[in-house]
Amino acid sequence: MNVAAISPVISTAMPIGPADGARGLYIGGQWMWPEGRAAICVVDPSTEAVLARVPDATVEDAQAAIEAAAGAAEAWRSTPPRRRSEILRRCFELMTARTEDLARLIALENGKALRDARGEVAYAADFFRWNAEEAVRIRGDFALSPTGANHIVVDYEPIGICVLITPWNFPAAMATRKIAPALAAGCTVVLKPASETPLTAYALAALYQEAGVPPGVVNVLTTSAPGPVTAAMLADPRVRKLSFTGSTQIGRVLLAEAAKRVLSCSMELGGNAPLIVFDDADLDVALEGVMLAKMRNAGEACTAANRIYVQAGIYDRFAEALTARMSALKVGPGTDASTECGPMITRAAVGKIERLVDDAVSRGAKLLCGGRRPEGAGFFYPPTVLSEVPHDAVMAHEEIFGPVAALARFETEDEAVAFANATEYGLAAYVFTQDLARGLRVSRRIDTGMVGLNRGLVSDPAAPFGGTKQSGLGREGGAHGVLEFLEAKYIATRL
Ligand code: NAP
Repeated sequence: MNVAAISPVISTAMPIGPADGARGLYIGGQWMWPEGRAAICVVDPSTEAVLARVPDATVEDAQAAIEAAAGAAEAWRSTPPRRRSEILRRCFELMTARTEDLARLIALENGKALRDARGEVAYAADFFRWNAEEAVRIRGDFALSPTGANHIVVDYEPIGICVLITPWNFPAAMATRKIAPALAAGCTVVLKPASETPLTAYALAALYQEAGVPPGVVNVLTTSAPGPVTAAMLADPRVRKLSFTGSTQIGRVLLAEAAKRVLSCSMELGGNAPLIVFDDADLDVALEGVMLAKMRNAGEACTAANRIYVQAGIYDRFAEALTARMSALKVGPGTDASTECGPMITRAAVGKIERLVDDAVSRGAKLLCGGRRPEGAGFFYPPTVLSEVPHDAVMAHEEIFGPVAALARFETEDEAVAFANATEYGLAAYVFTQDLARGLRVSRRIDTGMVGLNRGLVSDPAAPFGGTKQSGLGREGGAHGVLEFLEAKYIATRL
C-alpha cells in the first residue's frame, strides 16, 4: 500500500524515498535528504510491509538543526505573544480539520485502531489550542521585599533552544505536548521522533509550516543512531533544555548525558499503573474504566493499567465480565474501521508480551482468555485476561505494554494501597469505588503523579500530566506545561 495514496496529508510534503522526490529531514524550514544519507524503513505493523523510507540523520545533520533553531531563536522570542498565540491556534485548526487523514496515518504506521488514532489527533491538537491560550497569559511578579529594601521583579523568559525526543506510542500527541508549550514560551526546538513512527512527525511539520510557524522554529530529524546524535545536540552550548518522553531506561541514560552541561530536563518515563476495584464499585463503571485504562492503544500506553487489583467480594463477577468484554474485541489492522485492538508496534514487543504471560502462568496465574499469538503476518497479540497473577510475576513489576489484563485479589484497603505502591514507578493509578471519601483517601495514599477516580482516562491538555518516583520529572499540560520551557528571572529593583 502506498503511504501517499492512503494519506493525503503526507503526499505533498513527505519523504517517500530518494527515488520518489523525497524531501526528507525538516531543518530551517527546508525539506532535505542530504547527500549520502541512508534510509530508515517505516514498517506497517499490521502487514510488515515497508510503508516509506525516511532519511537517517547524522551528527552533522543534528548540528545543522541546532544551527537552524539558534538562527530562529531571537526573532521567535521577540515575536509578540499574541502573534505566537495566533500561529498556535492555526495549528490547532489545521490539525482538527485534517483529523481523518492524520488519524489514518497514525493508524497505518503505529497500528493503533482508527478510533484511538482519532482520539489521539483530538488530544494532540488540543495542546495547540490550550497553549495558544497560555501564550498570552504568561505573567511575572512584582512585590515589595519584606525588608522594604527593594522591589522584587520576576520575569519569565524562554529557556532557550530545546531538544525534544518522543516515543512511538502516541506519535502526534507526545510531540505536540512538547512543541506547543515550547513555542508558546518563545523557544525554538529540534524534535527527534521515534524511528518506528516518523511519518506523523513529518506530516505535522508540514502542517506547522502551513500554519505560519517560521523556518527554524521547529526542526525535525530522524536517525537510527539516537545516542550519538542526541549527545551531539546536548553538547552544543546553545541548547538549554531536554524534554524526553520514553522508557525509564533511556531516560536514565539521557539524564546522565544532560548532567554534563547541567541542562534543564523534563522526563516523562515509564509506568506500572495499579488499578483498584473495591467491592462497592459500580460494576459497569469499573468495567468501562478498565477497558479504557487497559485497552486504549491496545495497552501500549504509559498510563495503561498494568496491575488490576480487585477486592475479594466482587472478584469473580468482575473477572467473568471482563473476560467476556475482552474476548469480544475485534482484532485487526488499525486502519480497518471496525478494529478495536490493533497490532503491537514490533515483533520484539509481541515476544516480550509472550514471555511475560508465560512467566505469570508458570508461577500460577490462570489464563481466562487469549494468550496465544495468531499465525500470519503482522505483530498481533490477542486481548488476554490472566487471573490470580502472583506478586512475584515479572509483569507485576514491568510494563506489559500490550492487551493483557493481569488480575489479582485483595481483602483490605491497606493491602490494596500497599500492593499499588510496591513499584519503583509512579505515573498513573486508578481507583473505583462509590464511596467518595474512600476514593479520595486512597487516591492520596497512592504514590503516583495522577489518579483516575472512577475514570479510566486521566489525560487532559488542561491538567498536569507526569509522574513521581522513576516515572519522571516535571509535568506536561495545564499551567505547568509552559513553565517547563520558561526560566524565572529575578531583578532586585530599587525604585
Ligand atoms: P524508548 O525506547 O525509551 O524510546 C523513546 C525515544 O528515545 C525514541 O525516540 C528513541 O529513538 C529515543 N532513544 C532511544 N535510545 C536513545 C538514546 N540512547 N539517546 C537518545 N534517544 C534515544 O521508548 P519507546 O519504546 O519509544 O516508548 C515506550 C516507553 O515510553 C514506555 O516505557 C512508556 O511508558 C514510555 N512513555 C511514557 C509517557 C509519559 O508521558 N510518561 C508517554 C508515552 C510513553 P528510536 O526510536 O530511534 O530508538
